[in-house]
Amino acid sequence: MFSTMQDVPLTVSRILAHGSTIHSRSTVTTWDGNGPVVRTFAEVGARAAQLACALRDELGVLGDQRIGTLMWNNAEHLEAYLAVPSMGAVLHTLNLRLPAQQLAYVINHAADHAVIINGSVLPLLAGVLPQLAPTLKHIVVSGEGDRSLLAGFGGTVHDYEELIAGRPADYPWPTDLDEREAAALCYTSGTTGDPKGVLYSHRSVYLHCLQVNSADTFALTGRDTVLPVVPMFHVNAWGVPHAAFMSGADLLMPDRFLQPKPLAEMITRVRPTVSAAVPTIWTGLLDELDHGDYDTSSLRMVVIGGSACPPSLMKAFEERHGINVVHAWGMTETSPLGTFAQPPGGLTAEREWPYRITQGVFPASVEARLTGPDGERMPHDGVAAGELEIRGPWIAGAYFGGAGQDPERPDDKFSEDGWLRTGDIGTITPDGYLTLTDRAKDVIKSGGEWISSVELENHLMAHPEVAEAAVVAVPDERWGERPLATVVLRPGSTVAFPALRAFLAERVASWQLPERWALVDSVPKTSVGKFDKKVIRADYAADQLA
Ligand code: ADP
Repeated sequence: MFSTMQDVPLTVSRILAHGSTIHSRSTVTTWDGNGPVVRTFAEVGARAAQLACALRDELGVLGDQRIGTLMWNNAEHLEAYLAVPSMGAVLHTLNLRLPAQQLAYVINHAADHAVIINGSVLPLLAGVLPQLAPTLKHIVVSGEGDRSLLAGFGGTVHDYEELIAGRPADYPWPTDLDEREAAALCYTSGTTGDPKGVLYSHRSVYLHCLQVNSADTFALTGRDTVLPVVPMFHVNAWGVPHAAFMSGADLLMPDRFLQPKPLAEMITRVRPTVSAAVPTIWTGLLDELDHGDYDTSSLRMVVIGGSACPPSLMKAFEERHGINVVHAWGMTETSPLGTFAQPPGGLTAEREWPYRITQGVFPASVEARLTGPDGERMPHDGVAAGELEIRGPWIAGAYFGGAGQDPERPDDKFSEDGWLRTGDIGTITPDGYLTLTDRAKDVIKSGGEWISSVELENHLMAHPEVAEAAVVAVPDERWGERPLATVVLRPGSTVAFPALRAFLAERVASWQLPERWALVDSVPKTSVGKFDKKVIRADYAADQLA
């Protein structure tokens, strides 16, 4: 029998209504280079309503039209995050570090009706205007920027502030939205082939917010100030903006000031309690904190995810700056919260480390299984490795216009029974801790054995004279593939490769030791700041014996 409970849809407009009233005095602080610009949640809510009125009355936004955003993390972007889904349209966050061709591809693929853009990144959009389909009718510019760059655009250009000025500060948010309808759209960064769109539903966004706010994850409350350094175009800044609006946590938005120095300054001045970013950001920040005079004592937790966090980085933050670093794993397809590495209770700090350096445990809503090379289920014994497959209410079951949505285009990212195949290889312990050894496409297949590039990198980055290290597979006549280590040394360091190899030899089996080494000024990064192993592989496809 059915229950006797009310069937109320879980929608983004509920988050908007709750945040702007119950948490009306919470604030969004945007760093503008000179200092903080503050707006209350009440003001953000009112401006979101004005934006929705403008989109409907001026831009003719109807139904589930897609509205792109090409923006940094700031209050205006949050207004779009709340207004666009709440009115029933779909928020399409555009990655402003995508190569031009891919940027044009995703705007056209999504058939964006309008793009809201920060003036500082107008050259990016201007560069792809000739490639854009006529489905794009409007460009809304927020902030300073050279608008003459848009002269060739066939549609209408608006100024954000002029567009919303004087409009009603409330909007009749539709109450009949089905919670399964699309709220937001995010494309994978297309490391292999064209980017693929993941359409989050109102329900998935809402449930994901509850998870982000729960105790064993970000645990955001009205007593927190959260600094999402992770961009709002990278899997919705990991769900933090919507979750903060729901919980009443103040937001500190770094806008385009993502360099170590301004980050350290804003942490010192605005005193966030929680922050989140990929490891490369924290590596840079650590160096700045080590050498500058900053106060990071407000931070109760820093979440690192998006690629494997070297344990040496976590320990350095804790030992040198007293900052608690928590490791997490996720993907665009997983909203992204997949696992969070909080240790079990009752352990000494020392005995917590083996748990904390894993990728973490899955929350109750996310089920996981490991699949071996022949499709067999692997035991969760902490030893047997397999491809991680997951399912849950905020995990993608199809791509926009792809498998599931278009039966003509099946996608091997989904198993026949509908689980997401993550492409990540790892183990799971009986008590549920996931350890990823590698991405399937990054693991080094040497003479029938697998070498984890991540394990070699983590050991190398623990060497005091190594700033960054990325290990990739290069072709090898005898073994098929062998590891090549690219290394960035700390300033003034003179350590030689044989010494680094000897350092590794104390930590891994001899057959895993790289014979090929390269010294680089910096490791190439992807559009979301991860090591770009595709580029490194291409650069070093030929042998480089040290
Ligand atoms: P892209 O595939 O373009 O990098 P995503 O941000 O969706 O875009 O990346 C998801 C992938 O990032 C995961 O499948 C995994 O390989 C990697 N990843 C994310 N978090 C971690 C982590 N904590 N440890 C190891 N790998 C991670």
